[in-house]
Amino acid sequence: MSDFIPYVIIFVLGSIIGSFLNVCIYRIPRNLSIIFPSSRCPSCNTPIKVYDNIPVLSYVLLGGKCRICKAGISFRYPLVEVLNAVLFVFVIWRFGFAWHSLIYALLCSALVVITFIDLDFQIIPDVITLPGIVVGIVAGSLLMPDPFMRHSLLGFKASVIGLLAGGGLFYAIAVLSRGGMGGGDIKMMAMVGALMGWKAVLLTIFLGSLTGAVFGIFLMITQGKGRKTKIPFGPFLALGSVVTLFYGQEIFTWYFYR
Ligand SMILES: [Zn+2]
Repeated sequence: MSDFIPYVIIFVLGSIIGSFLNVCIYRIPRNLSIIFPSSRCPSCNTPIKVYDNIPVLSYVLLGGKCRICKAGISFRYPLVEVLNAVLFVFVIWRFGFAWHSLIYALLCSALVVITFIDLDFQIIPDVITLPGIVVGIVAGSLLMPDPFMRHSLLGFKASVIGLLAGGGLFYAIAVLSRGGMGGGDIKMMAMVGALMGWKAVLLTIFLGSLTGAVFGIFLMITQGKGRKTKIPFGPFLALGSVVTLFYGQEIFTWYFYR
């Protein structure tokens, strides 16, 4: 039972940060400050009281409606909070309480924000990926483990190679396809490569492309949409990154040594 308590605390912490991620998802693409003003109802603009801003719980207690104007609150708000909380619990469960777990948790939160902004606006903002690349190089050099050899450090060289592999591959595709690949995707993969190394970023790109293609085919069949349908790539790359982070080592071992 006592083993259970740290995970409850991490879940609560993850949902509180998830609540802040909702603010980021709404405000970053609209060029609004993420600090000021405090959260408001998007319909009636009434500031949301602290007791109505408890992650997940407030949504349930208010029945998914604004207390003042009764406008529906998007189901995405509690979803993002739960998603971030679950990812945090997973990071601690997989990697324990360590400095690199903090960075992995940060990466997961960045991926959640990227996913929903890309879904809404088809952009991946530089304010997330550029600091992410810097954190990736610094943390990758100093404290991140190699996701495929968990007991050895990634190191500066592998971090830079990862950055160049992730960013470079997508940059080449962007040049060759004349704009078929967005600049945001390039920087996102540079960030993931810097933090996890070249093997991880290549696996991420493989998994992201595979799930993206499967989803695209699914859309074509079910909705009869042609090749012109534009599907944002960010959410699939985020999914690939998370799967690689948690199960990359197992997938790699299974593929090469089975
Ligand atoms: Zn309202």
